[in-house]
Amino acid sequence: MSEVVATNQTILVVGAGVSGITAAVEAAETGKQVILVEKRPYVGGRITQLYKYFPKLCFPSCGLEINQRRLSAQPGITVLTMAEVTQVSGSEGDYNATIKISPRYVNENCTACGACAEGLEAKFDDDHNYAMSKRKGAYLPYNMAKPERYVIDPAIIGSEEAENAKAACRFDAIDLEMQEQTIEFNAGAIIWATGWRPYDAAKIQPYGYDRFDNVITSVEFERMMDRFGPTGGKILRPGDGKEAKDIAFIQCAGSRDRNHLKHCSRICCMASLKQSTYIGEQYGEDDEAAKGTIYYIDIRSIDRFEDFYRKVQEDPKISFIKSKVASIEQDKEGNPVVNGVDTEGYNRYANTHDLVVLAVGMEPSVDKSMFPVEVVVNEHGFIEADESSGGIFAAGCSADALDVNRAVQSATAAALRAIQVVNRNAAAAEA
Ligand SMILES: Cc1cc2nc3c(=O)[nH]c(=O)nc-3n(C[C@H](O)[C@H](O)[C@H](O)COP(=O)(O)OP(=O)(O)OC[C@H]3O[C@@H](n4cnc5c(N)ncnc54)[C@H](O)[C@@H]3O)c2cc1C
Repeated sequence: MSEVVATNQTILVVGAGVSGITAAVEAAETGKQVILVEKRPYVGGRITQLYKYFPKLCFPSCGLEINQRRLSAQPGITVLTMAEVTQVSGSEGDYNATIKISPRYVNENCTACGACAEGLEAKFDDDHNYAMSKRKGAYLPYNMAKPERYVIDPAIIGSEEAENAKAACRFDAIDLEMQEQTIEFNAGAIIWATGWRPYDAAKIQPYGYDRFDNVITSVEFERMMDRFGPTGGKILRPGDGKEAKDIAFIQCAGSRDRNHLKHCSRICCMASLKQSTYIGEQYGEDDEAAKGTIYYIDIRSIDRFEDFYRKVQEDPKISFIKSKVASIEQDKEGNPVVNGVDTEGYNRYANTHDLVVLAVGMEPSVDKSMFPVEVVVNEHGFIEADESSGGIFAAGCSADALDVNRAVQSATAAALRAIQVVNRNAAAAEA
């Protein structure tokens, strides 16, 4: 790792999702020095776990690659992965940050050849696939991970597995003695770009996510479509591995609900509209058994997204039922049965599907008490812009539930605010 030299002209960005990368690149392109801290072993955040983007249905990997290129072309940015900010002291224009860097046990010699993983037996939940599959104790977090470097799971350190992984490496890339590091540096401004996490679907008891195998979440459905994902790109029922063709999408699963998330995450309607098009993509337009049903309270698609909604409405494979689903049960064949009342005709329904996808909302990934510095949050836990925050700003989904386009705009705004703070430092130093 290169040595971190920072001053009160430096901007610290925490979280290297699309928002953090954007804020870092925008600031660095104006000549600022940036330190980008990411707790995962790779950059890109949660968009690396999406299959396609609405409304264009392009692959996120494309935009991500452009961002990664912008990132590596910037000598002013130092990227620290497997790193977290543990302490922040000071005030606007003069913060002192302490960062803990966990050992990867793999150095820069790694060519990602995979030889270290070949002979290993122990299996662990694969976080990238929301634990829908297993990975080995030596692993590349996902096929396009940047940095493209393996990680040794700390759970195998001290075991024969770790020694086997080291012995298999021809490039002297595995260092089992690697230790946790702590570094401290000065920064003039800090941007929190720590993003979101999916709401815990198990808390929505009437929907049975924790009881029924064929009830999954929208984030898991994204992983299923990826050919490098847990099902090799096939829509398979977790319960019995059979193809799922008749798929229900349940909107506002735990959102706009005083018992769960009170807020609307804005993206869930668009995410389900997008995911309903995956059915035709997977099975072809002529397969009559392949169909989607969207259960919704109201569809929230604004601006250019409205056209996408209209297009899906015209698709004969997709039907819409205006209803807040009351409950989900399971029949003897393991099929989920969706119950509720259609609020257009006031008819009760009990509809059987192959698979149910819960459109879960986004909540902030960091709870207020877990920030190493005082931040002002709103009633939903997202960071608020507040004068008392001094040189501390929020970007992307740490500030609100946003789609990528709006997250990037928010990140650019945060970069500008941070640049203003460090420029004031520069002006004061010259005076
Ligand atoms: C089902 C679903 C489908 C979606 N589909 C689309 C779509 O098609 N189009 C679209 O525009 N949007 C879509 N979105 C929204 C999109 O995922 C978000 O807009 C995007 O991920 C926001 O990026 P971010 O950088 O703000 O947050 P994140 O992607 O969450 O990135 C945050 C980063 O911060 C890191 N981090 C967190 N805490 C710390 C810490 N303490 N220290 C260091 N690092 C930390 C995380 O590891 C992560 O890398 C979808 C969302 C869902 C739920």
